[in-house]
Amino acid sequence: MHTITGIRVFRMNCILFVSLLFFSCGKQVNRIEAGTSAKNNLYQYSVIDALLAGVYDGEIDCETLKAKGDFGIGGFNAIDGELYLNEGKVSRIRYDGHAYPVSDEEKAAMAFVTFFDPDTSFTIRENGLTYDSLKLRLGNVISGNRMYAIRISGSFNRMQTRAPAPARKPYKPLAEHLITNQYFFKLDGTRGTMVGFCFPAYLEKVNVPGFHFHYLTEDRQKGGHVLDFMSDSIDVQLGRLHRLTLDIPGTREFEKAPLAKDRKGELNYVEGGE
Ligand SMILES: [Zn+2]
Repeated sequence: MHTITGIRVFRMNCILFVSLLFFSCGKQVNRIEAGTSAKNNLYQYSVIDALLAGVYDGEIDCETLKAKGDFGIGGFNAIDGELYLNEGKVSRIRYDGHAYPVSDEEKAAMAFVTFFDPDTSFTIRENGLTYDSLKLRLGNVISGNRMYAIRISGSFNRMQTRAPAPARKPYKPLAEHLITNQYFFKLDGTRGTMVGFCFPAYLEKVNVPGFHFHYLTEDRQKGGHVLDFMSDSIDVQLGRLHRLTLDIPGTREFEKAPLAKDRKGELNYVEGGE
């Protein structure tokens, strides 16, 4: 009898343990809410493969974009500059390397934004920290299957960026346009903020898989699409994104664009700048 009771107690303990395990796992599950919570939801206009195919004129203006998020990146119509949105303010970094304020009427070819609400913050101190070492560090704290908004502030000994010159019609595919129309900038000793995202591989035709940042100096004068940097200390804020809302352009150009093509090689060239 004693043994049987012992087994029962053991089984009860197992059930309790499994229940607790289930309960604690349940806490990790995203609550799918009936209403829409704007924070840390990603809003995206157009898809990366449309931009790669040369669909450079979108319909979304910056006023509408700011109603969808206060933080994000993208590109303007005719590929005239890199779009940078932080704390509700939009900047355009043009091919002269300078950043310009943007009126509400300006339109974006592609943009992805969120109301940024970081759930994790930390500082990385490492002499000579580069973009590659940052990717390794962040790779240890995030899941490659999730979407993240990421804000990184600090002093940058070196920051390498680029911005495209505007395209003229008829538009060529982006990789072809950039061969002779991208400008590279080396910014030494600036303070500023990188705004960006990390997206999973399964979104590769929708957005850029992996990390993607745009930079703006603290004085809002310079920046661009980040290619590399060096810093000794950076402050990192991560916000895990829960939902993606995708608006696709209603234009004829989008309808006609060859989007079934594999554009991985083009994307690597476009994002890496070489
Ligand atoms: Zn970019």
